[in-house]
Amino acid sequence: MALTGLEIYKQLPKTNCKDCGFPTCLAFAMKMAAKQVSLDKCPHVTDEAKAALESASRPPIQLVTIGTEDNELKIGNETQLFRHEERFHRPAGVAVRISDTLDEAALAERAEKIGCLAFERVGTTIKVNLVAVDNESGDAAQFAKAAEVAAEKSGLACVLISAKADNLKAAAGALSGKRPLLYISDPAQAEAAAAVAKDEGCPLAVRGDDLDALAELTPKIAAAGVEEIVLDPGTRGLKPTLEALTKIRRLSLKSFRPLGYPAIAFATDPDPTMQVIEASTYIAKYGGVVVTDAADAWQMLPILTTRQDIYIDPQKPVAVEPKLYEVGEVGAESPVLVTTNFSLSYYSVEGEVEASRVPAYIISVDTEGTSVLTAWASDKFNAETITAAMKNAGLDEKAPHKKLVIPGLVAVLSAGIEDESGWSVLIGPKEASGLPSYLKNQWKP
Ligand code: SF4
Repeated sequence: MALTGLEIYKQLPKTNCKDCGFPTCLAFAMKMAAKQVSLDKCPHVTDEAKAALESASRPPIQLVTIGTEDNELKIGNETQLFRHEERFHRPAGVAVRISDTLDEAALAERAEKIGCLAFERVGTTIKVNLVAVDNESGDAAQFAKAAEVAAEKSGLACVLISAKADNLKAAAGALSGKRPLLYISDPAQAEAAAAVAKDEGCPLAVRGDDLDALAELTPKIAAAGVEEIVLDPGTRGLKPTLEALTKIRRLSLKSFRPLGYPAIAFATDPDPTMQVIEASTYIAKYGGVVVTDAADAWQMLPILTTRQDIYIDPQKPVAVEPKLYEVGEVGAESPVLVTTNFSLSYYSVEGEVEASRVPAYIISVDTEGTSVLTAWASDKFNAETITAAMKNAGLDEKAPHKKLVIPGLVAVLSAGIEDESGWSVLIGPKEASGLPSYLKNQWKP
């Protein structure tokens, strides 16, 4: 269990030397108990004290690395139950399942399709990280071959799923040096699988029939020399799995070491839409790896969007550079649109302008990454800031028609902008989705 500040303090030198950056040893101990500083910041702590404080200085959730080089994925080391308390740090791995019962051509085709599941969203590429090869055949050689083909054709790191430790050994051998996550689905085979994971230098996911069984199993796996463990609470279906994942996160943050590992969850709902909801829920709370059959773009986009949103730092709005953007082959008669530098606002406008095929200037005003209405309400998106951004961009020369299209939500700004800039202001649609129709049917230079 977690040590209190006073328990930590008892192990410190108590000299109040300030070398750690804190005024007293007690202040340092209290910060350490809150997991806001690590023990290595005190250079004077003895080896005996280090050993005693090990549980307070270790991260509550073990860091686990899957894959290598460009495909490397790190999960774990999370410190919060709720994202708004700080942030979630390591985005969950999204794995799409492939059965080793597919023939080689079908398996290669599905693996290639999974490897191509990538999308551009708010200026960032979001994509699937993992391919999960499932040993449904029960055959070791078939499993090894499927792992080889899936890794090569998808270009992704692998999760290898089997009920047999020997089969995991065969498949891990086929992916030697690629550090797949080995998943043993039969708890009775877990210790044999630990020996395989240790030999192959791979992380190991283990399944327990319930959390008590899992908590009894993980110390045995760790004692066998495998530190990087991933937990499957053994539940299937949204409600029990969400409960189990939440309990694991709560207990691990209370430094209950047997469950201090990232978790793996399987989205298994037979309805394709419900499976998307299930996978997205596990990403929000608290899957480290989420395995799904959802291999179509319409399914994967919402799953990856959920991951992107959950793992963005909530204290830092995502912003684009405030400047003048040119979309398409702009000229003197091109419309000029204004928005804020909040990524979602900017990319919504940019996407709709592209869809309209009407080349346009978009001026993105520095509102510290806040959206149109938020920035207007906080007086960051007003006649002065918009006019200043127009002047900095040299718009008088680029757009001699001197007409500015503003978002319909802030029509109230039109008179002020006209007074400040000398331009005519046109009231655009309230939502970016109205831009294609507006640009095609209403815009005139
Ligand atoms: S560096 Fe160590 S001994 Fe010095 S004040 Fe900090 S905790 Fe105390």
